[in-house]
Parts: sequence; structure tokens; C-alpha cells
Amino acid sequence: MRKVLKSLCAFSFYCVFCFHGKAQEYFDYQATTPCDPRVISAMAPYWTKEFGNPHAHHAFGERAAAALLKARQQIADILGGKTRDWIFTSGATEANALAIKGVMLAAPYGKKHLITCVTEHKSVLDTCRFLAQQGCKVTVLPVDREGHLSLTLLKKAIRPETMLVSIMAANNEIGVIHPLSQIAKICHDRGVLLHTDATQAIGQIPFSISLTHADLVSFSGHKIYCPKGIGALYVAPHVVLTPLFHGGGQERGLRAGTVPVPLCVGLAKALEIAEEKRSTESQRLSLLQKAFLQRLRTLKGWCLNGSLKERLPNNLNISIEGVDSEDLLAALSEFALSTGSACNSDIHFSHVLEALDPEGILPPATLRISFGRYTTEVSVHRLADRLIETVEKLRHIKPFGGKRACKTKKGMIAH
Ligand code: PMP
Repeated sequence: MRKVLKSLCAFSFYCVFCFHGKAQEYFDYQATTPCDPRVISAMAPYWTKEFGNPHAHHAFGERAAAALLKARQQIADILGGKTRDWIFTSGATEANALAIKGVMLAAPYGKKHLITCVTEHKSVLDTCRFLAQQGCKVTVLPVDREGHLSLTLLKKAIRPETMLVSIMAANNEIGVIHPLSQIAKICHDRGVLLHTDATQAIGQIPFSISLTHADLVSFSGHKIYCPKGIGALYVAPHVVLTPLFHGGGQERGLRAGTVPVPLCVGLAKALEIAEEKRSTESQRLSLLQKAFLQRLRTLKGWCLNGSLKERLPNNLNISIEGVDSEDLLAALSEFALSTGSACNSDIHFSHVLEALDPEGILPPATLRISFGRYTTEVSVHRLADRLIETVEKLRHIKPFGGKRACKTKKGMIAH
């Protein structure tokens, strides 16, 4: 107990030092999270003393295999499904690829149609694009201005050749939550499988296999205070998958390669911690979200992107009139913020915002603000106040025209 407390104290210090040492406060928890010290402690023995290969037939291997089984059991206990239904992957990108390519490559002739949504993560959209190049038929459903999917359109899009629907549980840029159990019912009534990318939902909102009824579920460790490089895919027993790579027969032959035992142990621990505190933590983040929006009321000319009601508690995405995205980020450099999805940040272009705003009328200065375990009320107020002050100053010194805003957006430089 004392050891845990000691490491927690050291970690708090580390956070403050790191976030403030670089003169930045962290508001980008949807891009990634710092590793929880309890996760590091759980993994520790498996890097050194208990380093065995879980497939080896000696005592080292048996102990590693036992740790792996325990981690898989913990995940199944928390998220549902049977222990053997969970396959460890390198993260959500791989889990999404294994789910979508795996199902479609195994689909019989005449069942080569799949449906997804325009606001999915690139790891889903690009996988679908690849499959379209290989001869699959792909339908990409639109969303409305709030980021909602039309269930009527989904029903209409399903046809006799449809094999799979892939719809995320919650969006990584605008935080919008999709009604998965209703989507699952539509799919299952028509004999279609449902895959969901639950990377942003797990640890934030109630999520389980029995709540969603999805046939395939992907998630990633580094969004829940676990190291990068580990994730998992739930594969319901009736789903047939073609593996992405072949070899040693690990993970029921679905994911060849030596399994990284320490990371799997860490993933299970991170999930356990996230679930234990989920309800109170979500309420706390929700209050921070409300407090931020309330504070921003004194500022004119901004809008919230995505539904406020069906939204993750840790996400805000706002577009602000009369300022340039780059100028705004530069002026707010004491905060670690994102202008969209971190995965797209090299070109600052958001396909999600474009889907919400096909006419390009949204102002181009858009910020994604995401809260997490170490975000405090004080820091949220500080960010809101600095944002208001900065926007007013920028508008005053460098008026920014609406026409230029649209051109920038269409030029795919900013969103
Ligand atoms: N899906 C979603 C919704 C995500 O937010 C992310 C991470 N940006 C991914 C997939 C990819 O996850 P990973 O980094 O584990 O490959």
C-alpha cells in the first residue's frame, strides 16, 4: 500500500513537472494518455524476472501463459464475452484491420458488401478503401450536422450482399456517441455482422458486449493510461476471420507472433482501473465540460461541433470565428491542444468536420479539447479564460475574413 501511495505521489509530481515544465498543460487525452503508475507496477515483473514466452513448455513459459490467461480473463470479466474471444493486437488500428479485412476476406462470394460511416477513424476508412480496391462494395453513410447517423439510411443501405457494418462507439474528434444497441438490432435482424471501434468509448461511458451486442469490438491501451502498442479485438464465436498474418498460431491462429505479456498484463490492469472509477470520473469530466462551456458564454462567434447530448464527457470541439487556427494555437502554446484528430494532425485536415459541414461554412479555427484523469477545474477555467482573451486580442489585431476561412478549409490545410 505504501509503495503504491509513494509511486502515485511521485507520479503526480511528474505530471506537474512535465506538463508545466514545458510550460504546457495537457488537454489532449483523446490523442493519448500518460501511463498510470499502477499499470507500470503490474507490468514490472514481466519485463525482467517473468520474461518467459507464454508458448514455451517450461516453468518460465507456464508462468507467462498463466499471466496472459489472467489478463484475458480480466478483460472478458469487465467487457464481456468469453476469455477465448479476446485477441491481443498492437492497438486499435490493427484490431480494426483484423476485424474488417478479416471478415471481408473470409466472406463468401456474393457477400462482399460492407457499410461504414463518413466520420469513422482513418484506420477504418482506409481499410474500407483498400477493400474497395480489391473488389468489395463499400457504402459510406453520411452524418447530420450534429454528427448523428440516420438509422433509416442504415436500414436502406443494407442489402442481401451485406456482410458487415462497422460503426464506431464514440467519435475521436467530436465525441459523438452512436446508439450501438439499436444499430446491432438493425444489423442482426438482417443477418449482418456489426463491428465497433470502441477505442474512445471504453473507460468513458458504460460499454460491454452485452450492452452493445456487437460481434467484433476493437480498443486500444494508450487511451486508458496503458502504454502504446497494445490493444485487443473481441471476436464473437460465430464470426469467421481470415488472419492478417500467419505464423506461430498464437491467438487461436488469428494473430501470429509472440504475445507481449507485459503489455497484455498492463492492458488488463488499465481497464480494471478505468472501469473501477468510470462512473465518478465521467461525472467529474462532465462537470468540467459544462464549466468550460459556461465560461465561454461571454465570447461571441463560436460554435460547438457535434451533439452536446450524445457526447463523451471528456470531449469538446469548437470552431471560432474571425481567427486563424495556426495563430490561435501559437498564441495558446502553454496548452497542449489539438486542431482535430492527432492522427491527421500533419495536415490539420479533418474529414469529420467536413462531414458535418459539407458547404464549408464553419470557421476554420477549430480546437479539440480533451480532458482526462489529471485535468483539474482550475486548469479548465484557466484554459477558458486564456482562450477568450486570446481570441479577442487576435480578432482585434488581425481581423480574419469569412471568405478566406472557406478557402482555407477547401484547400485542406486547416479545418
Ligand atoms: N480508433 C480511434 C477511434 C482512435 O481514436 C484511435 C487513436 N487515435 C485509433 C482507432 C487508433 O488506435 P491505435 O493508436 O491504438 O492504433
